[in-house]
This record gives sequence, C-alpha cells and structure tokens, in this order.
Amino acid sequence: MADRRLERFGDGTRAVHAGLPPAEQEQPFLPGPAFAAPYHLRGDDAFGAAYPYGRYGNPTWTALEQAVAQLEGDDVEALVFPSGSAAIAAVLFPLLRAGDTVVVQEDAYPTGRMLASDELGELGVTVRQIPSTTEAFVAAAPGAAVVLLETPSNPGLDLVDVAAVAEAVHAAGGRLVVDNTLASPLGQRPLELGADASLLSGSKHLTGHGDLLLGTVATRDEELLAAARRWRERAGAILGPFEAWLAHRSLATLELRLRRQCDSALAIATALAARVGDDLLAVRYPGLPGDPAHALASRQMRAFGTVLTFDLGDDAERARRMLAACELVIEATSFGSVHTMAERRARWGTDAVTEGLIRLSVGIEDADDLIADLTQALDATR
Ligand SMILES: *Cc1c(COP(=O)(O)O)cnc(C)c1O
Repeated sequence: MADRRLERFGDGTRAVHAGLPPAEQEQPFLPGPAFAAPYHLRGDDAFGAAYPYGRYGNPTWTALEQAVAQLEGDDVEALVFPSGSAAIAAVLFPLLRAGDTVVVQEDAYPTGRMLASDELGELGVTVRQIPSTTEAFVAAAPGAAVVLLETPSNPGLDLVDVAAVAEAVHAAGGRLVVDNTLASPLGQRPLELGADASLLSGSKHLTGHGDLLLGTVATRDEELLAAARRWRERAGAILGPFEAWLAHRSLATLELRLRRQCDSALAIATALAARVGDDLLAVRYPGLPGDPAHALASRQMRAFGTVLTFDLGDDAERARRMLAACELVIEATSFGSVHTMAERRARWGTDAVTEGLIRLSVGIEDADDLIADLTQALDATR
C-alpha cells in the first residue's frame, strides 16, 4: 500500500494499511525489523544510496515514516525520532539562529518549553512565552521565525485556533509547528488546518501500549524536512529498528483504541462532572458540552481526546490518598496508553496548577469499571 493514497479511506482502514509495502508473494504484510549498522555498500556513490549506514536510514523506519505520513494527509513526508523531545529538537534547532524569535506557550510540554528557554535562549534565540489563547498567539506572530503551538494544551486542556494562528504566522513570514501529541493524527489534522509541520510524541497514543518512546515530524515543507533530517543524521538522535517495528505494528489498532478511549473519556467526564460543586472544584474535557473549549474543539478536532482533568482544589493530601485508593487506575505519568493512568500533576512542579489537580488518561478498560473505581476512591476520601 506504500505507494497508494489512503486519504479516501476511513480512519480505521488507513490505520490498518498505512505504510504496508506492496503485496509480494510469500512475504509478510509488515516485514520485521532490519537490524543493521552498516549495509552492503559497493562503489563510490555512498550518499546516493537510500541506506548507506544506520544513522542515515533504515528500511523499518521508512515503512513507519510512510505510515505516519499517510495518516497526516496526502503528499506529506514524515521522519521518526527516538522520542517526542528529539522530534521537537530536530525542528527547532536547525530552524533557529541567534537573533531569531521563537514563540512557545507558558504551559507547553515542560521539556519542549525548557529546550527553548534554556538551550536555545542561551544560544541567543529570543524565546517569547505566551498564554494558551488564540489571541495571544495571533498577537505574538509578528517577528517570530517559528511558533510552536500545542493544542489542546496540557494539563490545562485549553484550545487554540490553529487556522487563525497559521494565517497570522504566515502573514508575518514565520513557520507554525503544531505539537499534535494530545490529539493524535486521527484526532486532529494540523497540516490541513494550515500548520507547516505536525510533530508528536509517539510515546503516547501512536504506539499506545506504554512500552516505548518515539517521536515523529510530518510536513509538506521540503526545507523543514531536509533540516530535520540533517539534524537527525548529525545529532545521531535515531530510533532503534525494533521500536520502529513495534510502533508500526501498534498503529493498526490506533483508530480502535482511540474511539474506545474517547468514548470512555466522555462517559467518565460526565460522571465526574456530576460531583462539581460537591467534592470536586472542576472537571475539564473538551468533549463536555459545557466545557469552555467545546465549541472550538467541535470545529477543529475529529475526536475530543483521551485526557481529562478533575480538580480537588488545594487538597494535595486528598489527591494522594484518592490515587492510592484506586484499584484499576494506575498512578503514573504520560497518556495515550491502553492502561488508564492518573497523576497529581503538581508533583512535578512544572505546571501552574492547583495542588489537587488530577490528570486522567483513559485507557481501553470497561468504562463502567473505571467509573466505579474512581467513584469508590473519591467516596472513600471525601
Ligand atoms: C510526552 C510529550 C512530549 C515529549 O515526548 P517524549 O516522547 O516523552 O520525549 C512532547 N509534547 C507533548 C505534548 C507530550 O505530551
């Protein structure tokens, strides 16, 4: 299927067939991982080869890159990295020089934010940190070489209008890079909304089993693609072939997982929302009709996501006891896995949140079991 355009098919079909090579008699649907540092390489045209050496390319990456590109849209190219953070670095570092300005939001993923402020800032790049609102992004666009936008934001779950920001950034001659981790390529299409690049941490939904780290960059911008590829070759930030193969294997169930997780997230958010004003301060989920992000999410997103938050106010102790009282919900960071996980976000000290804000990542267990588990843990600690 690698040479075929998948755009006309539904998400479930695209997830199953993305990146599979053309049918070949007696060959597997998805070839196994190619473990190689050097490849056979005869003659002088070393750089003309697709696979001269393992740091430049690997056929297992190529298949996964075609799959990711096909999920992000037709005529897109993608690159894979060993983590989402490596993907962010591979876009920001080669595109920015001393004197340039990069815009990031105040509540962007902490590692990306610190990569900009501490590392790029130290190299003479001006780093403008702004709130997660469309107005702030549009106002910050003039003068910015690169704007890095994460929507929905995390853990705030506020939305920014990608199309409006893209227009403002392009009018000012900059590039818009969207971190699409929280939504996943099936939940949101940043390139279709006008972004120059869509990057994500595949450590979350894309791979979905909580067992590997991965990053991807997808773009139609040849210059950006070449710059990120060159960075990967030179920094040596490359994905192992086994991880690439595992990720590709997991991709087939992405639509199935995501649909189940999003349905359960809405059911859980609805159940928790009934406690707001009683023992919960607030519940945020873009799929809740009363949520401040709901109207924009309905226009911009194809699915409302698998992450929600509920707020126990400033009661850190109750939040700790509540998490400990859960039987099914695993206390862990991250999201997008088949396992339901939750954490008291303030424990990291990196986000402006109340002491009792819990971020919940909904997995594929039965929604009724999850609601019962959360309900008993909240009741036991109220
Ligand atoms: C997890 C995450 C990252 C970083 O990804 P790693 O794979 O952990 O390096 C970047 N952005 C967002 C939005 C994330 O959630």
